[in-house]
Amino acid sequence: MEYFFLTSMVHYSKNESLILLYAEMIVDIFKEGMTQNNSARNEAWKPQGKMQTIQSKSELRKAIKSVKSKGKTIGFVPTMGFLHQGHLSLIRRARAENDIVVVSVFVNPAQFGPNDDLDTYPRDAQRDSDLMAAETVDFAFFPTADALYPKGYITYVEVQGPMTQVLCGRSRPTHFRGVTTIVAKLFNLVSPDRAYFGQKDAQQATVIRKMVRDLDFDLQVVVCPTVREADGIAMSSRNTYLTPGQRTDAPVLRRALNDATKMIVKGERNPVVIRQNIEKQIDGVEGAVIDYVSVVNGHSMEEVKTLNGEVLIAVAVKFGATRLLDNIRVEV
Ligand code: AMP
Repeated sequence: MEYFFLTSMVHYSKNESLILLYAEMIVDIFKEGMTQNNSARNEAWKPQGKMQTIQSKSELRKAIKSVKSKGKTIGFVPTMGFLHQGHLSLIRRARAENDIVVVSVFVNPAQFGPNDDLDTYPRDAQRDSDLMAAETVDFAFFPTADALYPKGYITYVEVQGPMTQVLCGRSRPTHFRGVTTIVAKLFNLVSPDRAYFGQKDAQQATVIRKMVRDLDFDLQVVVCPTVREADGIAMSSRNTYLTPGQRTDAPVLRRALNDATKMIVKGERNPVVIRQNIEKQIDGVEGAVIDYVSVVNGHSMEEVKTLNGEVLIAVAVKFGATRLLDNIRVEV
């Protein structure tokens, strides 16, 4: 039940109130249901033993080999650390669906551009370890950049075409190449049966699905719903950069996207009208600078001329130096 709503789109039908009810239920589940429901489910899962912290690739490979030889399934959650409830929701889903849970914590230099926040990205390995241990993670993998990109490293994995060039790809042209490269490397090291990603980074999840299909990775990509703060802002490690004033302003993203949903429910099908309405709301907040507001096909990430089928409405907005993302998916 929970995941039916969480993974389903907002379905359009003539019954407006039903759709709004679905949308509200989804928001309610985001706000308060995740922790409760997941910890209830977790009770069936007793700790699998003490969490093992692994730094080296060889040690990880040995552990994975041993697990596989016993026929156990592996759920994998790649992260950049500084964990929050969004990450934990992925870990809990992996815990519920697999025998063994592996989480990686690695701030991947390859996905940061020269003007990005690689050096200042928040890090707290001890806190991350404690949180992972509390979620009964089996293997916490903390590789070093030298181990993953040793001197002379020159091999990259790239999903080509518009999928990686639009939305975030426009202002961060090498970002997705960095993401697919590290995720492919981690998939090779962890050999997961299932890998868990967040809908908050919708374009990333779509690009990874494409890579998995094109490169025949033998695993299932599971995309989990966006976990939000009580005021609607999507949880993100980067939220810690926001000043108190910016933090107060940031929920405008969610409000604008919610209004877009309401417009669609009422029958609006013109992406330009939807986009302009979102832009107007965000422009109304002093200090919010739009990177993009896009209405795209949910599979190809290409701009749509009319709302039809699975549509992603995605926004990226800068508050000072901090760039926040949010999106909604609708099935029209
Ligand atoms: P990151 O550490 O930011 O690279 O994120 C690691 C994974 O967690 C990615 O698959 C993200 O999409 C996912 N994630 C980050 N924030 C959230 C959130 N608020 N809700 C759900 N998933 C999230």
